[in-house]
Amino acid sequence: MSRASDDKMPAGTTAGTPQVLLAHHLKQLKLPTVLREYEKLARECARNGIDHTRYLLRLIELELIDRERRTVKRRIRAARFPAVKSLDTFDFTAIPSLNKMLVLELARCEYILRRENIIALGNSGTGKTHVALALGLAACQKGFTVAFTTAAALVNQLMEARDEKRLLKMQRDLAAVKLLVVDELSYVPLSPTGAELLFETFSQRYERGSTIVTSNLPFEDWTQVLGSERLTGALLDRLTHHVSILTMNGDSYRLKQSAHRRRAAGAEQNQAAPAD
Ligand code: ADP
Ligand code: MG
Repeated sequence: MSRASDDKMPAGTTAGTPQVLLAHHLKQLKLPTVLREYEKLARECARNGIDHTRYLLRLIELELIDRERRTVKRRIRAARFPAVKSLDTFDFTAIPSLNKMLVLELARCEYILRRENIIALGNSGTGKTHVALALGLAACQKGFTVAFTTAAALVNQLMEARDEKRLLKMQRDLAAVKLLVVDELSYVPLSPTGAELLFETFSQRYERGSTIVTSNLPFEDWTQVLGSERLTGALLDRLTHHVSILTMNGDSYRLKQSAHRRRAAGAEQNQAAPAD
């Protein structure tokens, strides 16, 4: 056989060792973990007298575990969280008004199966976004698709989509995620169109998927954002039909932290100062 025809031959079809062929097939079948692990595991199983069926079972289990990990990672990326935060780093003692048991229960994500909603209300800096991010992350880990956005960004994107005649597609995509997190419904009055589009988003998800909304406004002030009493009523009606409310009023965690740091710095300075 000439060298030239060797070069033209697709890798691993007739020539090549079984390892080369196997690598080729495993890539085609998208089994990267099997490819990475099969030799090492084969040696291990040979050493320990483990039969072929059990070897294959272990190998396939490794692929499944890795695949799940890759899927979770993909879901987290698709959710577009501004930061990845979990409840592990949340200090419940800092916010006594928050029902810890309820939050832990919600982190199990059963409300998503029931298509229920969550509203977190409270003043600024009390951890509403943190908890929303953590619940979003928990949902990704439990296998649900998630989208994270702020109310302002969502309304802007909806208006843009409408102008560009792709509103239907965006609305369909929004309705399809299992959990939509709308962070920071705050006091920025929306245009009538913006308010209508936000209402439609919630309305289209009603009893079809879960929505988390965070806001520093009590319900009675939502009219000021949405601009219409009728629309606000209809929106709250849908959103609160099946809902868990997280009350998060308290001192701002940010302010407390910086006051704490200032005190610590002050104490250090005092220590450094010569005693008189
Ligand atoms: P909000 O959305 O209510 O304004 P954030 O969730 O943005 O508040 O919280 C502000 C900052 O303080 C964030 O970095 C958040 O992670 C942190 N934080 C707030 N509350 C807590 C808490 N109880 N434990 C740990 N970190 C917290
Ligand atoms: Mg926030």
